[in-house]
Amino acid sequence: MTFLNRYDDISKEFAPVSKPRKSSAPSLLLWNEDLAKKLAIPVSQNDASELLSGNTLPLGVSPVALAYSGHQFGHFNPTLGDGRAHLLGAFSDPQGQLVDIQLKGSGRTPFSRGGDGLCALGPAVREFVMSQAIAALGVPTTQSLAVVTTGDSVFREQTVAGAVVSRVANSHIRVGSFQYLALKDDKQGMQNLMEHAITSHYPDITETGDARVVAFLTAVCEKQIELVIHWLRVGFIHGVMNTDNTLVSGDTIDYGPCAMLEAFDFNQVYSSIDRQGRYAFGNQPNIANWNCARLAESLLTIMESEGDAALNMLTTAIGMFSDKFNQAYQAMWASKLGILEWNESDSELLSELLVLMNEHKLDYTNTFAALTNSLLAASSDFFRVPEAIEGWYKKWQLRIVDSDLTKITKVMRFANPAVIPRNQLVEQVIDQFTESGSSQLLTQWLGVLNNPYNYEQPSSEFVEPLSSGINYHTFCG
Ligand code: AMP
Ligand code: MG
Ligand code: MG
Repeated sequence: MTFLNRYDDISKEFAPVSKPRKSSAPSLLLWNEDLAKKLAIPVSQNDASELLSGNTLPLGVSPVALAYSGHQFGHFNPTLGDGRAHLLGAFSDPQGQLVDIQLKGSGRTPFSRGGDGLCALGPAVREFVMSQAIAALGVPTTQSLAVVTTGDSVFREQTVAGAVVSRVANSHIRVGSFQYLALKDDKQGMQNLMEHAITSHYPDITETGDARVVAFLTAVCEKQIELVIHWLRVGFIHGVMNTDNTLVSGDTIDYGPCAMLEAFDFNQVYSSIDRQGRYAFGNQPNIANWNCARLAESLLTIMESEGDAALNMLTTAIGMFSDKFNQAYQAMWASKLGILEWNESDSELLSELLVLMNEHKLDYTNTFAALTNSLLAASSDFFRVPEAIEGWYKKWQLRIVDSDLTKITKVMRFANPAVIPRNQLVEQVIDQFTESGSSQLLTQWLGVLNNPYNYEQPSSEFVEPLSSGINYHTFCG
């Protein structure tokens, strides 16, 4: 088993060695066998409780915690870093790509500040379920290999069971990692980190000098646009889009307070700490743009051009974000509505639908699933076009009637999931694990979650919007 520490050479204090704490009775609770197989992860289910609790370290592995800064809810915090996570290292997947394995909830590190370094069972289960479902929905994301209960208690308002979740990721390079090096004015470190990110995620970048920095920034912006478009398409509300929770790889990370949009509303917020709605469903594109601008500011550190020239180059790259986003956004709605060529009048058709959905608190997933389902030969009873949009539905039918229906159906099926990880079901799963250490519900549900575009679902319990109208809140785990 070979693990590589690929963050060793970035900068002096970037990846300090830190040992996971010992758990008193580690026990494997959840294991993602498909992921283990697909990535040929060098940890077996038998060794998982010892290795993925951090109790036993693989030979030659010297775990590290990574340093980073970050804007949290718009406020800059210079000293964040992995306060409760240990990176075991990276291994090579069957495609030759490096993949990090990180333990979360594995004890204190040099970055823990006042924190206990631990993770409660609930948030660990949430990350495992949500990241698997989000991956199955085709959204770029970090994933969970396993959840191991530690046998030790964690104090969170009350005493709860502790767990370690093991995360696999294409890298752990955050916008906040660049902010950290910018703050230290560490030019060499930032060059190293950018080259590292280019090698890992953007190997097609061939430019040199300042053009290389601009190409990197542009590539990261494009990946962020792709990511947010996916989130909007499936109704994912990340909930804590701080710059330290933004990976330059463009993968989703940090499943703390996330939730799925149910009743359609661009202003929907579930996170109890997001009082201003900064990370509301419809504000996610603005925030992604804002986070990219923070990356641009950091990259200024390594620009060679003098004065305003460097700033102008980076500003121009950032300035392209909204046009590129708008283009992708229109394409997203086009695919959700099965419109193959977007006309100006289609924007009106779309707004009309969104206004109706908002007014009548229609379930986001099920409304688009109903449109898709209405085109299927073997249509399912679970998805009916809501009465409130019957008039609109006739207009939509007229709009698509002359198109190639086979093609439209295919496009819509791919854009509109039939199944999402419903908030209330995630809570039920967490409750079951907390109360009895197992979840019958999750056993049945995972198969369904792993095929979210299958309209022939076995049971209505997985498609009903249980929390619409209920005051649902999430918390940072
Ligand atoms: P998050 O809001 O999950 O992105 O976390 C923000 C920062 O707080 C990161 O630096 C985390 O490592 C740190 N943190 C969160 N929870 C804990 C904890 N229980 N112990 C130590 N550090 C923590
Ligand atoms: Mg985080
Ligand atoms: Mg978090």
